[in-house]
Amino acid sequence: MSELETVKIPDIGDVNDVEVIEVLVSLGDTISKEDSLITVESDKASMEIPSPAAGVITSLLLKTGDRVSQGSDILVLDVAAASDTGGSESAAGSDSSSAKDKSDTQEGQSAPAASSSESKPAEKALGGNSDAKPVSTDSSKSVASDQDRQSAEEHYELVVLGAGPGGYTAAFRAADLGLKVLLIERYPDLGGVCLNVGCIPSKALLHTAAVIQETRGMAAHGVSFAEPEIDIDKLRSFKEDVIGKLTGGLAGLAKQRKVTVAQGFGRFQSSHVMAISASMPDEDNDQAPRLVSFDNAIIAAGSRSIRIPGFPYEDERLMDSTGALQLADIPQRLLVIGGGIIGLEMGCVYAGLGSKVTVVELSDGLMPGCDRDLVRPLEKRLKKDFENIFTGSKVTGMESTDAGLTVNFEGGKAPASDTFDRVLLAVGRSPNGHAVDADKAGVDVDERGFISVDSQQRTGVSHIFAIGDLVGQPMLAHKATHEGKVAAEVAAGKKSYFDAKTIPSVAYTDPEVSWMGLTETTAKEQGIAYEKGVFPWAASGRALSMARSEGMTKVLYDPETKRVLGAGMVGPNAGELIAEAVLALEMGADIEDLALTVHPHPTLSETLNFAAEVAEGTVTDIYIPKR
Ligand SMILES: Cc1cc2nc3c(=O)[nH]c(=O)nc-3n(C[C@H](O)[C@H](O)[C@H](O)COP(=O)(O)OP(=O)(O)OC[C@H]3O[C@@H](n4cnc5c(N)ncnc54)[C@H](O)[C@@H]3O)c2cc1C
Repeated sequence: MSELETVKIPDIGDVNDVEVIEVLVSLGDTISKEDSLITVESDKASMEIPSPAAGVITSLLLKTGDRVSQGSDILVLDVAAASDTGGSESAAGSDSSSAKDKSDTQEGQSAPAASSSESKPAEKALGGNSDAKPVSTDSSKSVASDQDRQSAEEHYELVVLGAGPGGYTAAFRAADLGLKVLLIERYPDLGGVCLNVGCIPSKALLHTAAVIQETRGMAAHGVSFAEPEIDIDKLRSFKEDVIGKLTGGLAGLAKQRKVTVAQGFGRFQSSHVMAISASMPDEDNDQAPRLVSFDNAIIAAGSRSIRIPGFPYEDERLMDSTGALQLADIPQRLLVIGGGIIGLEMGCVYAGLGSKVTVVELSDGLMPGCDRDLVRPLEKRLKKDFENIFTGSKVTGMESTDAGLTVNFEGGKAPASDTFDRVLLAVGRSPNGHAVDADKAGVDVDERGFISVDSQQRTGVSHIFAIGDLVGQPMLAHKATHEGKVAAEVAAGKKSYFDAKTIPSVAYTDPEVSWMGLTETTAKEQGIAYEKGVFPWAASGRALSMARSEGMTKVLYDPETKRVLGAGMVGPNAGELIAEAVLALEMGADIEDLALTVHPHPTLSETLNFAAEVAEGTVTDIYIPKR
């Protein structure tokens, strides 16, 4: 006897009119309760819709590309047939293997979480973990062979390639979930660009520069300090010490979690084998690489500074951000090519230490892409702190001379040529996708070196994930760490997705600039309706007491629902303050929530509260004439 039941889209929160991007079942399939039926994707996330019951599919009522909402029909299920076929929640082994179970598997065996490209969703009842279901992968791209696997000396459930913030986070999370993990890093220290030559050293030096600038500003308060004496060796050691504490801490954390760390250059040999060489590919090396096989892999190889061809790179006075952070000396005159975040941060460091800094930027303004009203106060301050800012200008050539690096310019107000003691090239970063032989594993890498992934961080090969800088913009450490956790959890059989509503951006310049969610620039470009509340820091008691009245906080919201859409800030600590706006966006807060939340006084955090009050028309700290 048949007992037919129409399965419909359940209440899935605020998801409405979303696209079906994948149908995961076929007519005639026997399915268990909670088996995923389809994947839908909104602008916020993709999610799988589970079956409310076990049964046999007698009719499919939608296809890929259809748009659905709560209550739309998905399929018809013969629930009576489930008992005939044994398809039920307790079907042989399905859903029963936990991450702990996986850690108990023998080395060399494929763990249940392996979800190797050979294991299709329908095979999960044979002992696979149903949680580890590919979203949109092409398993035919896997080029593994048993012979390949046998050539390896060791086997891991998860191999992570690259120990930056994305890679070490993924490795640690996976180990915490019970997987046997190998973390491969070419350098002796863990932490990648962020800890060794990026976020952390730059912030250590920026703090020093900010204190110097602040003491200079104290003259206006009637307190004068002598010009600072800078012991550059001591400053460098302070920075190295900060790095050492953090990278040493990571090594300890890896040990505590029993994550095996391999120092060497890793490259795919096939879709299930990684070759680790002791030296870089361009170095002579007779040693045979160490071969390790894996069930899952996460590519976390990051990015590197972009070079402009034709510059004299053999001259150590031409630096990238890594060179600039080495702090070889304090040049009298420094040219920074590129007025983006990294260039301006390093410019602030050297200006604070006493260099005369010139910035040249191709676009018409600094920090292209960021709202102009946020950049303006920064630009005004930098015009005082820097020797020159040339926007709409480019460098057309560079030559090493005894006097320094002689640079030719074109466009804007830049001179035809000038000579600098050092030049920092900070024109962006390019992903390392091409450097790991991903093609040998069947993973597609685009011509720029980016690897595409789905919302579970899977590449086109279902057991190989990619995270961090090499999967796309924004190239930020906090994006990499969150992606790393998702990839690790999916590899361990969990149903995790990367569905952050926003990734905040911060320039740790002086003043700091931060933004999140919708920007006015994007809203205008894309015709998105918005309204905004703006609060000038000139009316903030805390900002005035710090003599930093140039700041500003704005919040963008939906004119109809009043929901927060975005926010931007400029001023000291803007990088810390933006987190509250990010939480508001993630929680679906509206402008009234922000306006009615009591903030401590006097703080800079009040400025977000006041910006929301401006939007609400309830602000009393400034006067807004009635419209
Ligand atoms: C000067 C500077 C300042 C920055 N400041 C900030 C900031 O304030 N906030 C922020 O969020 N972001 C900042 N960033 C960006 C941030 O550093 C990156 O977004 C982040 O490090 C990316 O993490 P990841 O894990 O993707 O890769 P990475 O940190 O690049 O790590 C990749 C790792 O993989 C290793 N690797 C690569 N290929 C191989 C291979 N074949 N075999 C073995 N190992 C390999 C590399 O050696 C490296 O250790 C800054 C960057 C720079 C350059």
